[in-house]
Amino acid sequence: MKIHEYQAKTLFREAGIPAPGGILAVTPDAAAEAARALGLPVVLKAQVHTGGRGKAGGVQVVSTLADVAPTAARILALTIQGLPVRGILVTPAVDIASEVYLSLLVDRGTRETVFIGCAEGGVDIEQTARETPGKILRLPVEPDRLASLEGDVSTAAFARRLFLDEEQARQATAIMARMARLFVEKDCSLIEINPLVVTGSGDVLALDAKVLLDDNALFRHPELVALRDLDSEDADELAAKEAGLSFIRLDGDIGCMVNGAGLAMATMDTIHHFGGRPANFLDVGGSSDPAKVVTAFRMILQDPKVKVILINIFGGITRCDDIARGILQSLSECDVPVPIVIRLIGTNQAEGRRLLEGARLIPAATLEEAAVKAVEMGGRA
Ligand code: GDP
Ligand code: MN
Repeated sequence: MKIHEYQAKTLFREAGIPAPGGILAVTPDAAAEAARALGLPVVLKAQVHTGGRGKAGGVQVVSTLADVAPTAARILALTIQGLPVRGILVTPAVDIASEVYLSLLVDRGTRETVFIGCAEGGVDIEQTARETPGKILRLPVEPDRLASLEGDVSTAAFARRLFLDEEQARQATAIMARMARLFVEKDCSLIEINPLVVTGSGDVLALDAKVLLDDNALFRHPELVALRDLDSEDADELAAKEAGLSFIRLDGDIGCMVNGAGLAMATMDTIHHFGGRPANFLDVGGSSDPAKVVTAFRMILQDPKVKVILINIFGGITRCDDIARGILQSLSECDVPVPIVIRLIGTNQAEGRRLLEGARLIPAATLEEAAVKAVEMGGRA
């Protein structure tokens, strides 16, 4: 789950990480009101679940009160990376002497929790990593040490590589320990500060804040669930959650409908093996509700990239006849402009296949056969 910068900064301050305060405004007048209360100059910052707001015009320093409302109106009219701006953080402008990049994240590639640092902050870190990877510093930390990094020598050494000044390095070391504690306490998968700045008076301060929370741990944090901004989330993934489906959009073109998370992963692996790319992960679950199948179809078809649908059902608790009824209902209710390859075996398979006789489906006896057919139908990478 993503949260907004202003929410992440509140978590930072609660955790003892210095970050400027501010006021959230959703109208130009409210922004002007907030600026008057805070005192000028202020920075107006679009609150959307994406980075790169600065480049898109979503971060503006304003020095006179008369400019606040018009600038806020311009920011509220922006769409950044496809996301409409609905709120602005009005925050006191900070006098920046230098900017560094600092994050703590779960690196799936190396299977580590790792601090990432770069002495050149504020910029696009992905670009730096591609062009000059030597500038990116890494410090892996064992997960069970994260909550107690105070006084740790390796983080102190890391901070000294980011900040030449001894006092600034000391402040950054304390920030790293607090970040790590916050990371564990709130079950984060990422905490990113870009930029972490040194102010004109020598203080180290988080000027931006990005926090990703592990959805699977949200049940432990009702206070974090309350931060969810439904307007900013992938509408399909939310609809899926409500329907009891696990759905994750991917960037290939083979729409997948599978029962069971393990089988869904095996299906995606098999598609990859034969040279194709899945458009989504979708687990319709172990139950047999035909309505779930209809919802699943709708979500797959909303993706214009989908060129073919692969249905892979291994009926256990799930009954093939119920799946077949869901498919028939979907075909009658939705316009399905792409071919459907189906492998349907297990409980009540004979009944399921009989129901589907005459329907416009391409049957496959095995997962391999289904994957090969789907890849051939235009699902090739
Ligand atoms: P992002 O573009 O979405 O990552 O948004 P940031 O919060 O990182 O802001 C982008 C840039 O705006 C920062 O790197 C700073 O250079 C600048 N900026 C943000 N806040 C302030 C501020 O208070 N004062 C000044 N002078 N610049 C700021
Ligand atoms: Mn930033």
